[in-house]
Amino acid sequence: MRAVVIHAPHDLRVEEFAAGEENIGPRDVRVRIAAGGICGSDLHYFNHGGFGTVRIKEPMVLGHEIAGKVVDVGSAVGAVTAGMRVAVNPSQPCNDCEYCHEGMRNQCVNMRFLGSAMRFPHVQGGFRQSLTVDAAQIVPIPDNMTMAEAAMAEPLSVCLHAARRAGSLMGKRVLVTGCGPIGALMVLVAAHAGAADIVVTDISDFPLSLAKRIGASRTINVATEPDGLKDYAAGKGTVHVLFEASGHQSALTGALAAIRPGGIIVQLGLGGDVTLPINTLVAKEIELRGTFRFDPEFALAVELMSKGLIDVKPLITQSLHFDQANEAFQTAGDRSKAMKVQLSFA
Ligand code: ZN
Repeated sequence: MRAVVIHAPHDLRVEEFAAGEENIGPRDVRVRIAAGGICGSDLHYFNHGGFGTVRIKEPMVLGHEIAGKVVDVGSAVGAVTAGMRVAVNPSQPCNDCEYCHEGMRNQCVNMRFLGSAMRFPHVQGGFRQSLTVDAAQIVPIPDNMTMAEAAMAEPLSVCLHAARRAGSLMGKRVLVTGCGPIGALMVLVAAHAGAADIVVTDISDFPLSLAKRIGASRTINVATEPDGLKDYAAGKGTVHVLFEASGHQSALTGALAAIRPGGIIVQLGLGGDVTLPINTLVAKEIELRGTFRFDPEFALAVELMSKGLIDVKPLITQSLHFDQANEAFQTAGDRSKAMKVQLSFA
């Protein structure tokens, strides 16, 4: 089979890849991949060879936002059968460490996550024609869901988990800083969760125009309108929940005046170290919460999309054949025209 393999920064090759496809274990499911979304972390591997301390140390197949069709199942697999169309959950927790036992499987110390260089040898990813995973990673999708939508289940679950971290959004004013695919999905999730007002900031007009179309009440380009959030800073601030999805210090600190006392910041964006005015957090009793990956939210993401309760389709702006992976990765990095770029493996 062929796969999309990162060798070094800007050295992305579509090439023959055979590892691990010889045998199918009793609990395994083999999937012919149909669609795969390019994530910010894939772009980091492509542009910089990794992020933070995570670096590519050997060639690695990228991709963890994937969907396809089951072609073979192991002898002990019951509920999944050949021919099923499925979303593939890229996370495989061990189910045996202290965090797994406590129900915090997203914090598993032995997590195997598709297309991730956190472990060595790296866990090879899903941008390939065929992939064998554990049956527990398979979520069947209904006939009315496209493979492209199913490949959005992973980033949507990240946002559903972030919303869970925030608590109820019913009737709240929500601010989303950074409108990449995660920020945009956060708009959809906040709207679904009953947020009364959804304000979105970014430094690029294209993603903001998309945010407006999918439910943002107001969008602010903070590059051209640096004081745009001051309307929300009246009194001690009027924003109940901030979803920070840019990873930039200026987005976080620039939003603090707008957050009301008792407000909650859910930090989604990964970045370097940031300096915070601790006195503001202390005096306004603002809670800063992290959020990392997801667990039961993956199946929930598929369910919400299949029932038409969350429509991710407007966010899929481009789809290219995986032979054109380099062009697709270039496009995915162009925020003037791309939101979510996917590869097709048909
Ligand atoms: Zn574990």
